[in-house]
Amino acid sequence: LVGSQKVDREVKSVCPFCGVGCQVTYKVRDNKIVGVDGRDGPANHDRLCVKGRFGFDYAHHPHRLRLPLIRKPGVPKDPNVQRDSARWQEVFREATWDEALDLAAGRLKDLRDRHGAKSLAGFGSAKGTNEEAYLFQKLVRTGFGSNNVDHCTRLCHASSVAALLEGVGSGAVSNQVSDVGLAELVLVIGSNPTSNHPVAATWMKNAAKAGTKIVLADPRITDIGKHAWRVLQFKPDTDVALLNAMIHTIIEEGLADRAFLEARATNFDALRAGVHAFAPEQMEAVCGIPAARIREVARAFATAKSAMILWGMGISQHVHGTDNARCLIALCSVAGQIGKPGSGLHPLRGQNNVQGASDAGLIPMMLPNYQRVDNAQAHSWFENFWGTSLDAKPGYTVVEIMHKALAPDSDPHKVRGMYVMGENPAMSDPDLNHARDALAALEHLVVQDIFLTETAWLADVVLPATAWPEKTGTVTNTDRIVQLGRKAIDPPGEAKPDLWLIQQLAARFGLPWHYPGEDDGVAAVYEEMRQAMHEAIAGITWDRLQREGSVTYPCLGEDDPGQSIVFTTSFPTSDGRVHLVPAGLVRGDEPPDAEFPLVLITGRLLEHWHTGSMTRRSRVLDAIEPTATATLNGRELRRLGLAAGQRVQLQSRRGELLCEVRRDDGTPDGSVFMPFAFVEAAANLLTNAALDPFGKIPEFKYCAVRLAALA
Ligand code: SF4
Repeated sequence: LVGSQKVDREVKSVCPFCGVGCQVTYKVRDNKIVGVDGRDGPANHDRLCVKGRFGFDYAHHPHRLRLPLIRKPGVPKDPNVQRDSARWQEVFREATWDEALDLAAGRLKDLRDRHGAKSLAGFGSAKGTNEEAYLFQKLVRTGFGSNNVDHCTRLCHASSVAALLEGVGSGAVSNQVSDVGLAELVLVIGSNPTSNHPVAATWMKNAAKAGTKIVLADPRITDIGKHAWRVLQFKPDTDVALLNAMIHTIIEEGLADRAFLEARATNFDALRAGVHAFAPEQMEAVCGIPAARIREVARAFATAKSAMILWGMGISQHVHGTDNARCLIALCSVAGQIGKPGSGLHPLRGQNNVQGASDAGLIPMMLPNYQRVDNAQAHSWFENFWGTSLDAKPGYTVVEIMHKALAPDSDPHKVRGMYVMGENPAMSDPDLNHARDALAALEHLVVQDIFLTETAWLADVVLPATAWPEKTGTVTNTDRIVQLGRKAIDPPGEAKPDLWLIQQLAARFGLPWHYPGEDDGVAAVYEEMRQAMHEAIAGITWDRLQREGSVTYPCLGEDDPGQSIVFTTSFPTSDGRVHLVPAGLVRGDEPPDAEFPLVLITGRLLEHWHTGSMTRRSRVLDAIEPTATATLNGRELRRLGLAAGQRVQLQSRRGELLCEVRRDDGTPDGSVFMPFAFVEAAANLLTNAALDPFGKIPEFKYCAVRLAALA
C-alpha cells in the first residue's frame, strides 16, 4: 500500500487484533497510517496475517466518533439496533466534554447512592491496554463499590481458566506457541488457528513440515487439518467422551508416566476410576471416532518425547467447558507431558489483550494477579494498597449482569447503570434479543468506544475514545509476553484516550487518584499495577519495556529474562502438585430435535475479528468477506435441497436471521457454522445463554436451529 512513497515516521507497536501479539511497524504520513510491516517480535519474527497487514484503516474510517454524544430527551432505546445509521442525530446530540462526563458519572453515582453498589456494573475490554484494564477494575471496585466488573474473557476462555486455576494453579499457558517446533506431537483441539491465530498457525505448519505429528481433533475439519498426521472429526458436544477414552487408553495400556504422577500429581486414583467406563470401544459410538484410531492417537501422545496441546473456544464454549479443559490437564499429566520444552498446555487467547486484562483483575471474582476477592489476606492487602474498603463478595459475570438488568424492581441486586469500555455486548452476548433488551432497560448506560457500536446505540452518554494506534500502553499476548505499543497518530476530532476518560470519571466519583506523566500517566499506572501483581511481573519495569519492547512473565527480577516454560519443577498450587479432576459426560443444554434438527456452531473468520466493529470498517478485509454466510457440508446442502449462494432463514428458539449458505465439506453432518461478526445477520440472535457452572461461559458452540430456503 505504501510502496516507495515517503513516510513521515515509523512507529513500533503491536497488532491490535488477535492474541498472537505480532509486533508491527506503523508507517505514518500526514497523521495517517499508510502501511504496516511485521517486526522481528518473539511471536511473529516479521510475519503478519491479512488482518495485521491490511486491517489498519478502521482508525481513519469516517464513522469514527469525534465528539461526546448525549441521548436526546424522550428518545426511546430501540433494541433493534442499527449500525451507523444516518439517523444518529435523531437519537443523540453533541455535547461538551464537561457536560458529558458530569452526566455520565453523576447519574451512575446517583444510582449507587439510591440503590446501592450492586446496582452498577462495568464491562471493560480485552482490546485495550493493561493500564486501562487495571484502572477500569479499580474504578468499579473502589468507586462503584462492588466486584460487578467483567469483560469478554467470560465469553472465550473463562472455563479454561477455571480448570487451569483449579488444576495447575495458574490460568496462563505453560509453554509458548513457538514450542510446537520442539514437540514431537501437537494436539490441536477445538481450535481453528489458520483463521483465528494465523501467524501461530504458520509455526504449526512449519513444525509439521519438519516432522512434528499434528493431530487435529474438532467437529469441523479446518485448514490446519491439511497439515495433520491424524484428523479426529468427533461429533459436536462429545469432547469429554473422546478425551476420557484417550486417558483410559494411556492408563489401561500401561503408558502412564508413573514417576510424574507419584511425584507431582494428586487425585490420580479418582481420575483412573473416573475414566474406567470410557474404554474407546464404548466411546466410539458416542464420539464417532473408531476405537482403534483413539488408541493409536493416545499411544502416540503418551510415547512422544514431547507433546503439546493447543486449544480454543471449541473446548471452552460449552456448558461442560471446564470439564473439557480438566480432561486436557489430565491427559497431559497422565502422559507426563508438561513442564518440559515442547510439552504442555496452551489455551490460545482470542483478543490481543485478553490475557493481560484478566491478569489485571478485570474479572468479578479476582483482584489483580488472580487474588480471589473473598480471600481475606488478598482482600486486606488491596484495601491497604488502594486505601479504601472493598467488597469481599464476587460480583456478577457478563451474562448474569444482563439477567440482573432485567430483574424486577424489588430485586436488591438489580443492575440499573452500566459503564462499558470498548466492548460490544449487543453483538457478542448470547441470545442477543435478551441482551439488547437488558441494555435498553438500564436506567443509565455509558459507552466509551471509537464507533457508534450496536451497544453505543443504546447508550445515554457516548464517550469517543482512542483507537489502538492512537495510544501508548502495554498488552500481554497468549504466550505471557508483555509488549509495549507506542502512539503513532493523533485521535480524530475531540476523541480522548481511554486512560484519561477513566480518570475523569474517577475524579467525579471523588477518588483521589494521581498518575502524573506523559500519555495520561501511563507509566505511573503501569508501575502501580506492577506492584499489585506482586512477583508475576516484578522484573518488568516500564523502563525495561521501553528498552526491550517485550518481556515474558513470570519475571522475578530485572535480570530475569522471563520464564517461557513454567511448571518445570512444581505447580503454583497449595501443595505444588497438579490436581487431577475427573470429568463425567454432561450433554449440551439444547440438543437438536425434530423441531430444530441442526446444531449451530459459531466462530470467527480469518478476515473478521469478533463483532466486526473494526474489521468490517477495514476496506480490504470487508471486501474479501463482505457477507454473512451459514456454512454446511455438501451432503447437508443436497439433503436440504439447497445450492451454495441460496438465501435461507435460520431460526432458533430465541431468534432468527436471513443469510446465504456456503459449502464447506469440513462442517460436520447435521451442523451449520456461522461467524458472529455480521450485524445484518447476527449469529448471536440464535445462540443459547446456558452457562458452564464453573467458568460461567455461555454455550456458543452448541444449540439447536432449523433452516428453511427462502422462496
Ligand atoms: Fe495480528 Fe493475530 Fe494476525 Fe498476528 S496473527 S497479524 S496478531 S491478527
